[in-house]
Amino acid sequence: MRGQVRRQTFFLGRLFGVRVGVHVSWLAVYAFMTVVIARGLAGLPVIQAYGLGALCALALFASVVGHEFAHAIVARRFGVQTRAITLFLFGGVAELETEPGTPRADAVIAAAGPAMSALLGVVALAATFAIDRYVPGGLGEALGRLGTYVALVNGVLAVFNMIPAYPMDGGRVLRAALWQRGHDRRTATIAASRIGMAFALVFVGAGVLAAAALHDLTYGWCALMGTFLLRQSWSQQRALRTSGRRATGDVPATA
Ligand SMILES: [Zn+2]
Repeated sequence: MRGQVRRQTFFLGRLFGVRVGVHVSWLAVYAFMTVVIARGLAGLPVIQAYGLGALCALALFASVVGHEFAHAIVARRFGVQTRAITLFLFGGVAELETEPGTPRADAVIAAAGPAMSALLGVVALAATFAIDRYVPGGLGEALGRLGTYVALVNGVLAVFNMIPAYPMDGGRVLRAALWQRGHDRRTATIAASRIGMAFALVFVGAGVLAAAALHDLTYGWCALMGTFLLRQSWSQQRALRTSGRRATGDVPATA
């Protein structure tokens, strides 16, 4: 994803000249993922289960960072610098200094993240098969579980981010396509934001219904994600509407 997450963010360091930070909400994700994964590892001693859970959560962190850096590195090839990469409750966000200048650059930068996730997923899957075959015993089993988890997480990152719900990556590809088809960027962004809002409402509805029907609050995450997306797409659309006919205005994204 792209945009801004500034407040309550811990700066970790720079990688390839880009600031990498962790929003305080990510710490909750880390703790939650560690516990959920450890509880799913029935049969392992508690310490090993939590150790592996923490390792899996770290792999999730690395997977999201890899996804965001794909956006940043491809953006740089198109002359667009990245101010910061921040991990937060709903994943990661790469904050670009300017909007890409052409529909092609826009689409390629947006698609780079999910493409990287798909690649990481395939590599993790291949590694898991190799571990299964060549690493025996408990170590092989633990590494196999870690590999399966990394493959799954990256598969989800690749597919989920390509949902055409602007400002998610798929929505940005859709915006680029609309822009390419003769609309100016402003009109294309407003249209893509409306579609993004529709998807966001579906996420909210599906999350609430699933949580109520299945008595499982983890589906509430889907509803939360929907409200976040709704706020994002709404604020982008409103910023463009109030900026009049200024077609070149970069849209401030707030999170
Ligand atoms: Zn992305």
